[in-house]
Amino acid sequence: MPIFKPAEWIAPKTVEEALDVLQKRKARIIAGGTGVYELAKRGMLPDAEVLLDLQSLNLEFVRVDGNVLKIGAMSRFTWLLKQAVFQRPELGGLLDSMKNVKPAQVRNVATAGGAISISLPFLDFAPSTLAFDASVVLVGAGGKQRTLTVDKFFLDYLLPDLRKGEILTEIQIPIVPSSGSAFMKLGRTAGDFALVNVCARLTFDKSGKCTDSRISLGGIANTPVRSKKGESALKGQKLTKEIVAKAAEGVSSEFEPTPSVHGSPWYKKEISKTLTRDVVYKAAERAGFPVEVK
Ligand SMILES: Cc1cc2nc3c(=O)[nH]c(=O)nc-3n(C[C@H](O)[C@H](O)[C@H](O)COP(=O)(O)OP(=O)(O)OC[C@H]3O[C@@H](n4cnc5c(N)ncnc54)[C@H](O)[C@@H]3O)c2cc1C
Repeated sequence: MPIFKPAEWIAPKTVEEALDVLQKRKARIIAGGTGVYELAKRGMLPDAEVLLDLQSLNLEFVRVDGNVLKIGAMSRFTWLLKQAVFQRPELGGLLDSMKNVKPAQVRNVATAGGAISISLPFLDFAPSTLAFDASVVLVGAGGKQRTLTVDKFFLDYLLPDLRKGEILTEIQIPIVPSSGSAFMKLGRTAGDFALVNVCARLTFDKSGKCTDSRISLGGIANTPVRSKKGESALKGQKLTKEIVAKAAEGVSSEFEPTPSVHGSPWYKKEISKTLTRDVVYKAAERAGFPVEVK
């Protein structure tokens, strides 16, 4: 028996046409389809009459506009991984997170916009955008546009702040000079969803003091989260082994992680501690200010 049987499939050529369909029909947007498939399999898309396929829209792009990286919502991960801009040390954490979307067949079709719009806490790219202070551009009826930071966009599990009739068209990521970033994940197997993942973006002044820090985690709450305790332990410091250990401890003590069949809250706390330590070391190294270990 088919898991999902919309009567129609529509592939508009422009965002305006797509918005028009969303106004008039009970339509479900489909980008790469990897998340839609999983939702349909679980009987979570009972109402959709129409699949609104965004593939013909011109939304696969990366542009650097001043100090902002703009990623088109329909950019597929395999395509994004080939774009030179992600070789910049400031964006290393995003590159790591996209490489961690597995298997390759999923990376070939899954899109950056779809990964954010589904609002799941255990994916890889979406939690990392939180460490980058990313924003999403949403376009609704009549072309009305809003821009929201991702911390406001992820309202709850499978609940993005997408209003009826809106399409996410672009993700905007500030590129912070003199910063480095890194992302790591632990899953049950190398190709599995994250039990926990952590992304850090660290900014340094010329003397090597950490002037700003962002640490985001996936897999431990209903949405991706930022660790204020971990961040404040690093801010204003020259990073040493002891400072990083304090930050990792702060991250692990800040949350009571959601349990899962593959990991108890205690285990997730231990993993978040280890991953935080490792991503901070990597991010600092990428920024050119390795953690002092003597
Ligand atoms: C076998 C398998 C393995 C996976 N492994 C991983 C993994 O290791 N790491 C990981 O991070 N993820 C993994 N995923 C999940 C996958 O990355 C996400 O489901 C995916 O990123 C969603 O992107 P998509 O383009 O396929 O979105 P779709 O499935 O097309 O859409 C997802 C949701 O977002 C909505 N939507 C999509 N685009 C827009 C838009 N532009 N505007 C508004 N709403 C929109 C859709 O209506 C739907 O509700 C895996 C999935 C599968 C099936």
